[in-house]
Amino acid sequence: MAETTAKSISRFQGKLIKWYKEHGRTFPWRKNNLSQYQLIIAEVLLQRTKAETVSNFYKDFIAAFPDWKSLADSDTTIIAEYLKPIGLQNQRAARLKKLAQEMVRRRGFLPRDRPELDTIPLFGQYIANAIELLIFKKPSPLLDVNMARVLERYFGERKLADIRYDPYLQDLALNVSIHAESKTVNWAILDFAALICKAQRPQCETCFLSKQCTYFNQ
Ligand code: SF4
Repeated sequence: MAETTAKSISRFQGKLIKWYKEHGRTFPWRKNNLSQYQLIIAEVLLQRTKAETVSNFYKDFIAAFPDWKSLADSDTTIIAEYLKPIGLQNQRAARLKKLAQEMVRRRGFLPRDRPELDTIPLFGQYIANAIELLIFKKPSPLLDVNMARVLERYFGERKLADIRYDPYLQDLALNVSIHAESKTVNWAILDFAALICKAQRPQCETCFLSKQCTYFNQ
């Protein structure tokens, strides 16, 4: 396992930020001035779906359901119909509607306190982290299977099957996200995971991180 010292994390962050500034992807949810609703919906849609797939569809979905109230008031079958292009429509429609009803009940209020945020059952760890990062501007990791793959290949493997409960991976992801440009570090890792450190056939031979990468050097 590569040593996860402050120095190795700082080197990893620096190289990724530099790469991202030249090669990062552009998505509608990465624009400035999005509402809390728009940011949360993007993160919910991105779960278990490629960003490129969501990108082609996101604007239409937001136009059809511009706020929590419109989503909460819509029939699940209508929401599912809109969600068809990205799949898992029935499951997603039911979850989005419940989430919208909860947010309407809360009048859109999101608690800043993390334990309180975690009491909103429909968010889960990933969305709560995204809220901290994108809305409250706190360092927090967008830790999904893609980020986990990059971190594990570079720094070393986790012990537990479930990302959410592995203390090593959780600590590592948090430490990696602690940076003045935390959002950029997160987006850089996700883009790097999609374009270079892919699940199948990572481009190790030409990768700018290969020198210190555990996976490559094994
Ligand atoms: Fe990923 Fe390969 Fe680069 Fe390591 S060397 S970070 S495994 S692409």
